[in-house]
This record gives sequence, C-alpha cells and structure tokens, in this order.
Amino acid sequence: MMQVLGGLQKGLVFVISAPAGTGKTTLTRMLCQEFACVTESISYTTRSIRSGEVPGNDYYFIPQEEFKKKIMEGEFLEYAQVFSHYYGTSKIQVEAEQKRGKHVVLVIDTQGALQLMGTYPAVFIFIKPPSINELRRRLVARKSDALDAIEQRLSWAEKEMSLANRYDYTIVNQDLDIAYSVLRSILIAEEHKNH
Ligand code: 5GP
Repeated sequence: MMQVLGGLQKGLVFVISAPAGTGKTTLTRMLCQEFACVTESISYTTRSIRSGEVPGNDYYFIPQEEFKKKIMEGEFLEYAQVFSHYYGTSKIQVEAEQKRGKHVVLVIDTQGALQLMGTYPAVFIFIKPPSINELRRRLVARKSDALDAIEQRLSWAEKEMSLANRYDYTIVNQDLDIAYSVLRSILIAEEHKNH
C-alpha cells in the first residue's frame, strides 16, 4: 500500500458531492482502500437503515430529537435536510481524524458543501454522471428506489449538477477506472500543494 502525506501538519478535508447513482460511494471506497491515510467521515442521519447497511459504518442512525439536540449543541460542521431526512457531519470526528494525520472525505450533498465553501478549508470535488439518461438507467438497474422516487432523485440531480462549477474540480464518471485515476491524482496534487 502506498502512503503519501507530503509534509503536511494535519490531514486535508475533501468534500465530494454527486447525485445518487454517480458512483461516489464506489470511488470514495477505492480511495480509502488504496491510501491508508484517507478515511471517510461517517455522518449522522435520521433516515431509516437500508438493507445491507451497517450502523456506525455507513451512518450513525439516530432519531430526529437526538439530531436536533446535536444541532443545538453545535456538534455539526454542516448539516442539511435531503429528501425529508436530516444528515450531518460530526465536527469532532473530522478534527480528530485530521490530527491523526488522516485525510477525511465528506460525501455530502450540495447544500452541505455550499455551507462550507468560502469558510471552511477543504477541497471541493463534484462527480457527474455522463448524462441524466445514463443516471436514470443506473438508478433503475440498481432497483433500490421506486420509479417515482427515481424521478424525484433525477430532478434533484439536475439542480445539484447546476452547482458543479462552484466546486474546485469536476469529474465525469463515464468510465470508473478513468474517473478513479483523476480522483487519486487530485488527492496527490493537493497533498503536494504549498498550503
Ligand atoms: P443516502 O440517503 O442516499 O445515503 O444519501 C442521500 C444524500 O445525502 C446524498 O447526496 C449524500 O451525499 C447526502 N449526505 C450524506 N451524509 C451527509 C451529511 O453529513 N451532510 C449532508 N449535507 N449531506 C449528506
């Protein structure tokens, strides 16, 4: 395993946004697998657990009252409501990982990313599908959403994609291997930037 941490005092934060079905989860897992110095932040959410998900690994699943208490106590670096559920990033979790020398990847929606842009030091990356039609095809093939939910996700995807130009980088995931080689290049370049 390759380990690169080009003379930085602490880990960097990478914010990745992408519509559902774009391959963001796969790409992020590939990055964490290749680089031991990269870890994914585990968000809190009020949505219910999906089959195959593991609490504390995919998300921390908590009731809405608990989520609201965390908002009040300032525990979130950012949070947002997505498809009627709350999602938020734990501030102390991210800081602790950075201090351990890890780069932290936040896979969050555009509302959360916009909250951080301009105020929080992070590298912002947007991942796009090749087209909306291709995204529809992938979501239908994945069979994890009903058709009306898919249409709702697609119209939200179009809204999110219109914000891609505010990010530092845009990667089009047409071919997974090519998209991954771009993503890992961004990581390596950012590690070697004079900050
Ligand atoms: P899903 O329910 O499909 O896992 O996620 C729905 C959306 O919520 C995705 O766009 C995902 O990136 C986003 N999301 C997950 N965790 C967070 C978070 O902590 N903050 C924000 N703002 N969005 C999140």
